Amino acid sequence: MKQTNNEPRRTARILLIYTGGTIGMGLNPRTGALEPLDFNELVARLPELHDIPAGVDVHQFPQPIDSSDMNPQLWGRIVEIIADGYDHYDGFVILHGTDTMAFTASALSFMLENLTKPVILTGSQLPIHQLRTDGRENLITSIEIAAARKPDGTPRVPEVCIYFSGKLLRGNRSTKINSEGFNAFDSFNFPPLADAGVKIVYHDELILHPDYSRPMTPHFALDANVVVFTLFPGIQEATVRYLLATPGLRSIVMRTYGSGNAPQSPWLEQVLNEANSHGIVIINITQCAAGPVEMARYSGGFLLKNAGVLSGYDSTVECAIAKLMHLQGHTSDPEAIRRLMARPLCGEITIEP
Ligand code: ASP
Repeated sequence: MKQTNNEPRRTARILLIYTGGTIGMGLNPRTGALEPLDFNELVARLPELHDIPAGVDVHQFPQPIDSSDMNPQLWGRIVEIIADGYDHYDGFVILHGTDTMAFTASALSFMLENLTKPVILTGSQLPIHQLRTDGRENLITSIEIAAARKPDGTPRVPEVCIYFSGKLLRGNRSTKINSEGFNAFDSFNFPPLADAGVKIVYHDELILHPDYSRPMTPHFALDANVVVFTLFPGIQEATVRYLLATPGLRSIVMRTYGSGNAPQSPWLEQVLNEANSHGIVIINITQCAAGPVEMARYSGGFLLKNAGVLSGYDSTVECAIAKLMHLQGHTSDPEAIRRLMARPLCGEITIEP
């Protein structure tokens, strides 16, 4: 956006990266279906943006996508755009479809090491040009958060976050919980970093502190040889064996019951033991939305521990997948991956002492 003498002083420069999603879609009058629009036009038609004390440039994906088509190559592209503009901009706002936003936010949190600037993902449930859209507030507040600084000039939120419906959530703690309501995201195991009502109230004590004396390091290597499987009563040995025999498979996110429990079947222990001894990393994540895995609590969890399954602590599934892809992209040593899965790298898990 160009600045004239009548406009507020732009104190921060923000790069808006438009990847697609409902927020920028319009109705095709012929088919009645939603399809991506040119976002530069939409920004020009949003007069509110001129009142924000930030200069906003737009980088649009050549072909905006529905976020169901997001993939690790495109995560790399987003990281490249951020790394290229890193010195020029004070913060980044990524417009993204809600369906896979939590995966992208998780991946970016690992790919942007020692992030010293805000990267805020947002989107909407209704396209931005519709009368009742939630996109206008989500976008404007995200820009405001990306531009916010502390009195010492450092950014208020130097993290990858999702802003949606009044809540600023740590990206790698977020999950999409609603396909219709405006409150599309939640973070069950970590409180919001900020609440936006009449004022934006930041919870500074929860926000990460990067090392400002070190540069941000972008990472691009990802290895997507991960699989997720969910336990259910009656799960068959043959199915699990088939899954574990997938060529190239390096890790499993196993969605267990309650505090990390599984049926006490000798075959399950044996199959998992075999996978483990072949260097496959197995991470235990509960099927519950809230609460951590505690494998020593019941014998069904103890069995998994004996089979070499690692606790995923209170990680989301989205985050466990992204972290495994990131670590697998950087090392071929399963022991190194196991070690790093048990350590928070950017606020993604809580380990009780
Ligand atoms: N299917 C859309 C997407 O994820 C939904 C949305 O944007 O909310 O791109």
